[in-house]
Amino acid sequence: MRYEHLSSPAIAALDRDATILIVSLGAVEQHGPHLPVGTDSMIVTALCEAAARQRGDTVVLPPPWYGVSPHHMRFPGTVSIGVDTMRALVGDIVDSAVTHGFRRILLVNGHGGNGPTLDVLATTLGHRHHPRVRIAGLTYFQLAAAEIDAIRESAPGGAGHAGEVETSLMLHLAPDLVGMEDAVAVYPDAGSPYLTTDLTGSSPIRTFTDFSDLSSSGVFGDPSLADAGKGERLFTAIVGSLDRFLDDFAGWPLT
Ligand SMILES: [Zn+2]
Repeated sequence: MRYEHLSSPAIAALDRDATILIVSLGAVEQHGPHLPVGTDSMIVTALCEAAARQRGDTVVLPPPWYGVSPHHMRFPGTVSIGVDTMRALVGDIVDSAVTHGFRRILLVNGHGGNGPTLDVLATTLGHRHHPRVRIAGLTYFQLAAAEIDAIRESAPGGAGHAGEVETSLMLHLAPDLVGMEDAVAVYPDAGSPYLTTDLTGSSPIRTFTDFSDLSSSGVFGDPSLADAGKGERLFTAIVGSLDRFLDDFAGWPLT
């Protein structure tokens, strides 16, 4: 289930047509005063590993950890890699997997700042390895937006970054790393109805938003509504959405 736990012969024995390899993409960046900087990579990798655990056909590669986070660089602790670095890094990981014959590769993202790079990776790598390999990319909070919105209680803006959803997930996954006494709620005013700061919101407009312009704490959202039970429900619901997509992806035709 975890690629780094397997031996080379065990990997050689995996069915190349049926096995789905997942690369999880997150970030190492500020998540307000109450969550660790590894939040995005920890959450997305835990979701992928849980989905893989309940299936027999999915293996999760070790996560590259770092993501594209220039919009968080004004806050201490953020480690950002550039778009070109991320393209090269994930491209080399995927190329290695393809060299070893894998034919179904899924990029699962958990960080908004990686979104545009994810789109480019899924399409350029898909083209590079066409028609032998199926490559897809998704962002978990977009895939499971309906499921997340059915559980969350905050108004739009309450679940942007280190808000209700991410804080609940971390209270479920790693409560010792969460400092709820330091949590603050911020509903950012982006200044335009065309701009959304919520995880499950969507807008046709693309622009750059520096988090420090809208939130002095770095929080977008309402961590006061977070709790571990809600985190468990969110986690289960998101893993369910991921599993449904993996069922579908497992059936995408190979030529
Ligand atoms: Zn995050």
